[in-house]
Amino acid sequence: MSKSTSNAYDVCVVGAGLTGLATAYRLQNAGLRVLVLEASSRIGGRIHAIRDTKTNAPLADLGPSWIWPPYQKHASDWVQELGLELHPQYEQGMALLDIEPSQSPRSESMPGQHGMSRITGGPSAFIDAISGKLPTGTIHRDAAVNSVEQVDDCIAIETSNSSIQKVIAKHVVIATPLRVAQEAIQFKGKLPDELEQVLSRAPTWMAAQAKAIILYNEPFWRDLGLSGRIASRLGPMVEAHDLSGKDRTPAALFGFIGLPAHIRSNNAEKLEAALIDQLVRCFGPQAENYSRLHIEDWAQNPFICTQADRDGSGAHPSQLPHVVRKPLWSNNLHFAVAETATGSPGLIDGAFESAERATNSILTEIA
Ligand SMILES: Cc1cc2nc3c(=O)[nH]c(=O)nc-3n(C[C@H](O)[C@H](O)[C@H](O)COP(=O)(O)OP(=O)(O)OC[C@H]3O[C@@H](n4cnc5c(N)ncnc54)[C@H](O)[C@@H]3O)c2cc1C
Repeated sequence: MSKSTSNAYDVCVVGAGLTGLATAYRLQNAGLRVLVLEASSRIGGRIHAIRDTKTNAPLADLGPSWIWPPYQKHASDWVQELGLELHPQYEQGMALLDIEPSQSPRSESMPGQHGMSRITGGPSAFIDAISGKLPTGTIHRDAAVNSVEQVDDCIAIETSNSSIQKVIAKHVVIATPLRVAQEAIQFKGKLPDELEQVLSRAPTWMAAQAKAIILYNEPFWRDLGLSGRIASRLGPMVEAHDLSGKDRTPAALFGFIGLPAHIRSNNAEKLEAALIDQLVRCFGPQAENYSRLHIEDWAQNPFICTQADRDGSGAHPSQLPHVVRKPLWSNNLHFAVAETATGSPGLIDGAFESAERATNSILTEIA
């Protein structure tokens, strides 16, 4: 690849989620000229957080919260490499079963999942650490990729951003959710029929979910002997957990809202009131004294969620067929997003595994 043309790159990574950023970081380190194009005005994809307005430090996760280090080697290795810290999910005290409409929630001992850990600073610490190591100008935001076309032994990329409309790269890594890639990006070149089917059928993990975050001055539930965990059939949150920082601050709870996307979006105000009612029902009147309530509705994010995800079952992704991991177009086109992993598809660990696979594949090809 000629390095004299300003819009020519060794690798163009489409999507600045964890997979895209980790891929870009590895390839930059290997000495390649890398560009990352991100459709949204922010980076991180499904990793997102409420941040402190003054320091920009992440306060509460709006996307993922947990990794499972005993079972997830890729995520564990990246935690170490980036010098991040882990702390256990708070599970001390009793959980609450919020099941019978006519009865108060019942407290019950409910052990947490083995090995489930929180990253201090949240998964956004991955995004901040990796993006902070990329040279300025590597990532272009508000640059949705519209098309990729095989041209000679390179790939031409077109974006929605007039300041970076056309780019040429030897390799392209599609690091977007697979269904989003199929709907939003025109592939001007043959994709195998089997791959087309996989792209349309592969659900994007958690894409249709909504996460409620409730911040407090104190984790008062802990002082009541409660873990903050709720398992509910009454809702609107079907499960809730303590999301407080390592040293109790910021004090926070989060929960997944068990209502379909169209009902959530048409009833935003009622939903907020119902959330607080549920917390008061479970934790008592102190739950009313929250400092902030935020609902992150991922189903409304067009760069993450498609109609097929909103209509889908939300089942955990299973390992996808090999065709999704096979480079195409003379080994220049690669699909790498968390769902393409073999180990923990759809999860943070899967994002790192996918990034390592795309990196190795490109470096092998270039060597
Ligand atoms: C609510 C929620 C809870 C979760 N909980 C957990 C958890 O506890 N543990 C865990 O391991 N995982 C969890 N996950 C999953 C985890 O967030 C993902 O595995 C991981 O963030 C995926 O990263 P990714 O880079 O592969 O994909 P994404 O984060 O989806 O990144 C894709 C990127 O591509 C961009 N993009 C899309 N279209 C285009 C385009 N045309 N051009 C350019 N860019 C484009 C998007 O804007 C986005 O930035 C959760 C996810 C959610 C939403």
